[in-house]
Amino acid sequence: MFATLSDKLDLVFKKLRGQAVMTEDNVKEALREVRLALLEADVNFKVVKDFIERVRGRAVGTEVLQSLAPGQQVIKIVHDELVELMGGAEDNSLDLAAKPPVAIMMVGLQGAGKTTSCGKLARFLKNQRKKTLLVPADVYRPAAIEQLKVLGRQLDVEVFDSSADQKPLDICRNATRYAALNGIDVVIYDTAGRHQIDDYLMEELEGIRDELAPREILFVADAMTGQEAVNVAGGFNDRLGITGVVLTKLDGDAKGGAALSIKAVTGKPVKFVGLGEKLDALDVFHADRLVSRILG
Ligand code: GDP
Repeated sequence: MFATLSDKLDLVFKKLRGQAVMTEDNVKEALREVRLALLEADVNFKVVKDFIERVRGRAVGTEVLQSLAPGQQVIKIVHDELVELMGGAEDNSLDLAAKPPVAIMMVGLQGAGKTTSCGKLARFLKNQRKKTLLVPADVYRPAAIEQLKVLGRQLDVEVFDSSADQKPLDICRNATRYAALNGIDVVIYDTAGRHQIDDYLMEELEGIRDELAPREILFVADAMTGQEAVNVAGGFNDRLGITGVVLTKLDGDAKGGAALSIKAVTGKPVKFVGLGEKLDALDVFHADRLVSRILG
């Protein structure tokens, strides 16, 4: 068993019992452990550096509470600051405050979990009694169209009829018209992905965005890809102006530090996390849960 961060900090602060305040030296040693824990959890190097500086400022000179072990005290400071960094008490819920049909555009690299997340989101909305339409607009991976149709059947959610010989922009335009005529509340557009960002893809997505004026552009990121997810999120945000993130595959080994970095780099909140392949494996994002996971 590896020692938890909490154990390590308790060790660092053993000497501190009886002292009145945390000193520069104690804190320095403790923050070295915190720094390592964050880097191991895939938090971006620069984000960690800025963060540690902030925590140092708060911790040094802090009175040692008799009621709490000093290690726990530092953990609490770190925990609170991380939650703050993740948006804290900000409202990160899905924004559907527009005249229906409200458009949600899903974007991201191939394999990130975009199509699966479309299905999960459709289920989430169905549970809120929203009449939802799924739109397959990834014509380069024909299996994606079939995959979405299968998910729609499982959920009993309508899937717009499209085929791989159509232009994505035409599919989206027709689907929007259909949705408006058929009393649909929310339309989820599953767009194409690539293995990496390329200009052609971005131009296509910009065209779709301009046509749909979506209320939400959710970037789907695979937590297992760590630092890379952060770079890709930055790229998509620069070109498209994303409104939020769905962080998938948090049921795996990834600690999810990418969520912190994505928020720090793009300024956009994580709105949902994916916790498995099944359609009910979607949670709304809770900053404190992710932070506990990172520090755990
Ligand atoms: P897309 O290319 O972005 O549309 O990706 P898919 O939706 O096809 O997902 C790629 C793979 O990741 C599939 O095998 C999914 O079952 C799997 N997947 C998606 N989301 C999750 C998740 O939250 N956890 C796990 N374990 N697997 C996921």
